[in-house]
Amino acid sequence: MRQFDITAPTTIDDAVDGRHTFLAGGTTLVDLMKLDVLTPPRVADINALPLRGIGADEGGHSDNGNAGHGLRIGALERMSDVAEHPDVPPAVRRALTLSASQQLRNMATIGGNLLQRTRCGYFRDTTMPCNKRTPGSGCSALGGNNRGHAVLGTSDHCVATHASDLAVALVALDAEVRLVGSDGARTTPLADFYRTPGDTPEIETGLRDGELTTDVVVPHPERAAHSTYVKVRDRQSYEFALCSVAASLDVRDGVVVDARIAAGGVGTIPWRLPGVEAALRGEPATESAFAAAAEVATHGATPLTHNGFKVPLLRRTLVRALLELAEGSTR
Ligand SMILES: Cc1cc2nc3c(=O)[nH]c(=O)nc-3n(C[C@H](O)[C@H](O)[C@H](O)COP(=O)(O)OP(=O)(O)OC[C@H]3O[C@@H](n4cnc5c(N)ncnc54)[C@H](O)[C@@H]3O)c2cc1C
Ligand code: SF4
Repeated sequence: MRQFDITAPTTIDDAVDGRHTFLAGGTTLVDLMKLDVLTPPRVADINALPLRGIGADEGGHSDNGNAGHGLRIGALERMSDVAEHPDVPPAVRRALTLSASQQLRNMATIGGNLLQRTRCGYFRDTTMPCNKRTPGSGCSALGGNNRGHAVLGTSDHCVATHASDLAVALVALDAEVRLVGSDGARTTPLADFYRTPGDTPEIETGLRDGELTTDVVVPHPERAAHSTYVKVRDRQSYEFALCSVAASLDVRDGVVVDARIAAGGVGTIPWRLPGVEAALRGEPATESAFAAAAEVATHGATPLTHNGFKVPLLRRTLVRALLELAEGSTR
């Protein structure tokens, strides 16, 4: 690990004054610093900042009319506390409970989870070329082991998946993220926050230099109350998703009135599926209608040598999530 300066600001103004790398739970940042993948010269431990709390949103700076009508979750809330909170929608609670391990969830924060880096093994191995870690050096996964990599949103420069389960659930539920920098505060839909790799895979989000995530807001909690998260992985705990689906569904008289869906483990960002949502609206809430809509999910997928199985897996996971909701079960 390289030498670095560390401070512990107690106000948000002090935290955003100085272009620090922020340390929250440290469960990703410290790992990557030990591996020399990240070598920040200045680190700010933000744990003393007033970024806690789970409750009704008391308004903010939303551009899309969601302010004042949502559930606010502070960026420093621990994953375990959010997973157990009764007001948090089921899709978010399940995405968190199915992430990492209880020890990690007790330490790791909501803000840190949303900004965690990819788990591509080549990114974490400084002896291997990786465009995300060292722009222009090449992508080892393209000709290497790419079983866990993405099939949607990829480019010739990077095919890494986005690792966060929480982000998938929040994107499906139209959540917004609030940010503060030295230029002031802003709010952005989480779905617009993440960037596909294109030819700049080192840029993963719209976070500006020195900007701090303060809160996440889930709009319309009543709509999000009928939601679920299904995660498929190689083992049943302590493992990232091969494929996951977050969905909320509104069914009346056996017909789908509204659906919100996003997928994880298959895309370079949390992958919202508006085509599937449109295909479901007005259709009967049946397995065959769900299977027909799920075909749309994989349009444009570009499988690599080892990850072609993710294409049918995404369709099946999607049908399973929708059936759980249609049957009123969130097993
Ligand atoms: C073995 C293992 C298994 C895991 N399995 C899963 C899994 O199955 N699913 C899953 O989703 N995750 C998984 N994770 C990832 C884990 O959830 C993240 O490491 C954790 O959520 C990061 O939160 P943190 O508070 O520790 O972040 P930190 O490590 O402190 O920070 C992570 C990044 O976020 C930045 N950051 C943190 N807070 C803020 C803020 N408020 N504003 C701006 N930037 C900020 C930091 O600068 C850093 O770049 C796993 C991790 C491990 C080690
Ligand atoms: S997939 Fe992305 S993160 Fe992985 S080696 Fe290629 S460029 Fe690096």
